[in-house]
Amino acid sequence: MQPEPKQATDPAPVRSHPGWIALRVLFGLAGIAAVAWLVREVGVDALEEAILPALPWLPLALALEVARIGMDALSSHYSLRREDRVPAWPMFAAHLVAYAVMGVAPAGRATSEVVKASLLARWSIRAERTCLDELRERGVRAELFRTHLTPIPTPVRIQSDIGGVHYRKRPGALHFIISCELAVRLARAAPIFRAHGIETIDVSSSWRRAPNTSFHRMGLALDIQAFHGTRGTWVVEGQYPVDRTAPTCPVTAEAPPLRRLACELAASGHLSTVITPSYNLSHHNHFHIDARPDDPRVFVR
Ligand SMILES: [Zn+2]
Repeated sequence: MQPEPKQATDPAPVRSHPGWIALRVLFGLAGIAAVAWLVREVGVDALEEAILPALPWLPLALALEVARIGMDALSSHYSLRREDRVPAWPMFAAHLVAYAVMGVAPAGRATSEVVKASLLARWSIRAERTCLDELRERGVRAELFRTHLTPIPTPVRIQSDIGGVHYRKRPGALHFIISCELAVRLARAAPIFRAHGIETIDVSSSWRRAPNTSFHRMGLALDIQAFHGTRGTWVVEGQYPVDRTAPTCPVTAEAPPLRRLACELAASGHLSTVITPSYNLSHHNHFHIDARPDDPRVFVR
C-alpha cells in the first residue's frame, strides 16, 4: 500500500454563481434591447408588411429548421462509435444551441462546432464546473481542492456520504480526496451498494502519488478493504471466494455476495475496472475500482 499524499495547499472553496447569473441576465437584456432597437429602426408598419404574407409559411419553415437540426444531430450520432454515443436529448440540445450560436456569433460555423464539442464533452472528461454541478445535484457535499502534486482532474475533498454510503478512510489517514469524476461514478453506483444493504465502505487507499502509471495518481481509483451494512461486515481478505482459474463474471444468484457485488459493479457501466483478490496476489486484501471517464472498456477480474 502506498503512502497517502500530503496536503499541498489549502483547499479553495467552490465558487458560487451570482456573477455568472448577473452576466446572463445582462446579455438577455442586451438582446431584448437590440431587438427593440431594430424594430424601431425598421418601423412597425414595414415589419407587418413583410411578416404578414409570410405568416402561413412560418410553421413549415420552423418544421424544416427543426428537421434540419435533427438530421444534423442524427449524423453526429452515427459518426460516433457505438460505445461513445450519447443519449438523444443531450445530442439534440447540443445541436440546437450550436445552431443558435451559428446565427449570431462571428465565424458562426466554427464557433458553433466549438460550442457543440464543449456541450458534448461532458460525456468524457468534463469541465470542472459541470462535474461539480452533477456532484451537488446528486447530494454530495465536496470541497474543491487545489493541488499540483499529481495530474488529477477536478480534485475534491468529500465531506458527506455518497448516495447514502459512507466512505471511511483507514485510521490515521488524511482526508478523502478523489477526482470529482470518480465521486460522480460512486454516486451513480450507490444504488448497487445499497441494494446489498451496504452503509459504510472501508477505503484503504484513494488518491496517492505512486506508482506513476496508476489511476490512483489521478484520483480515479479506490482500494476497498471491507463493506459494512445491514447484512453484517464483509471483509475482502478471507471472505472473497478467490478463484484465479476461471473468469470472475458472470455469476449466478447463489454466488457469494462479494462476488455478485463485483460483477454488478462491473456490469453497471459506472466503473471501468473492478479488480478482486482473484486478479493477483497484490490485490489479496482489497477490491480495486477505478473510473476512466473517456474509456468505454470495462475490465473485471
Ligand atoms: Zn488500487
